[in-house]
Amino acid sequence: MSVDQQFNYFMPTRVRFGWGELDRIGEAVAGLGTKALLVTGRSAMQKLGFTDLVVNALQTVDIETVIYNKVEPNPSVTTVDEGAALAKELGCDFVIGLGGGSPLDAAKAIAAVMAAGGSVWELIKGERAVPPVVPLVAVPSTAGTGSEVTQYALVSNKDAQEKFPLRSPYLFPTVAIVDPAVMATQTPELTAETGMDALTHAIEAMVGNSATPLGDLFAAEAIRYIARHIVTAVRQGDDREARAGMAYGSMLAGVAIAQAGTGAAHGIGQAVGGIFDTGHGATVGILLPHVMEFNLTTRMAKYAYIARLLGAKVDGLNEEQTARAGVDYVHKLLADVGLPSGLDGLGVSKEAREEIVIAARPQGGIRNNPRRMEDEDVRKLLNAVLA
Ligand code: NDP
Ligand code: MN
Repeated sequence: MSVDQQFNYFMPTRVRFGWGELDRIGEAVAGLGTKALLVTGRSAMQKLGFTDLVVNALQTVDIETVIYNKVEPNPSVTTVDEGAALAKELGCDFVIGLGGGSPLDAAKAIAAVMAAGGSVWELIKGERAVPPVVPLVAVPSTAGTGSEVTQYALVSNKDAQEKFPLRSPYLFPTVAIVDPAVMATQTPELTAETGMDALTHAIEAMVGNSATPLGDLFAAEAIRYIARHIVTAVRQGDDREARAGMAYGSMLAGVAIAQAGTGAAHGIGQAVGGIFDTGHGATVGILLPHVMEFNLTTRMAKYAYIARLLGAKVDGLNEEQTARAGVDYVHKLLADVGLPSGLDGLGVSKEAREEIVIAARPQGGIRNNPRRMEDEDVRKLLNAVLA
């Protein structure tokens, strides 16, 4: 064992984990402010009663809440900019994101625009830096993105058909409330796709150019938890152990990408999501085994380790065979959780291939991918997933 490497580790988010933790949100946000902007999606959180739960809990600790329930999957520049304008107009002094990665990212991006003014797209393009922001609270309702513990907020520019992350150390939430009960309401389909997103985070963080020993620690444990629990969480949504395992695994994977970034599945996946508005988790999950295959020889030992963490059958196999068993395991896992094996299954057309190749070029995940990926490689990879 050796750690012959420079790295730094920064994770300033307080994590409050466990069943029923959302009921204690009043205690969790004490001292953060007096008027919250509650950023959430259009219907699920309201329908399931979580929006009211939060509003009532805050009321008992004398915190007023302004509800902003306009966040669409793959949140747009307009949604973010309008949310920030509302928060400023009504004098909100902290922001709570409640929902999947989309409301969480929107909440973070809104906080950034509240502080910086202008539009979120200017911040994403690096025209101005993100200043320190008001306190942020993140309550994930999917076991997927890990946004509750990352410094990223992904925003789509619907006019330009582009999707990029806003990135700033100020965007780590102040508090993450990770309550498996909030995620246990996910449908099997949503559980599958968001769970594959989390697995993709862990694997990409571990093999990427920016991998660090501490990031690997989180990624390894994330892979173990997710592989152990994802199928049960999809098939028996009321299994407490599986839901808690996925909540924990996805959070760990978030810590890993916060340290180490993602890879080509995310680089290409975000390009696809910007153009087609596809579900993020399904998109990157479908790409994952193909990217693993492409990278295999560049990170053989790590992929062999990943195969063991996944629980693939590796007895008697040499290192390369072991690494390949991990790739096969992920192909089979996709089928086991009911996801399609190709992007055409998500409505992505073959005709868009060149557009995706171009849109993938500037994505950070491509730069962080361990094996250099040229246009021709992206093209070949897309051929495998587009019918
Ligand atoms: P979304 O937040 O986009 O939610 C998808 C759908 O699921 C919505 O229609 C939502 O309903 C519904 N939903 C959410 N939670 C529940 C629940 N508990 N029960 C029932 N329905 C529910 O999905 P993801 O979590 O996959 O987030 C994806 C986004 O996160 C993408 O934009 C992606 O790029 C980003 N991301 C961010 C990362 C980061 O580090 N910040 C990392 C990886 C991805 P409704 O619309 O009513 O709310
Ligand atoms: Mn992701």
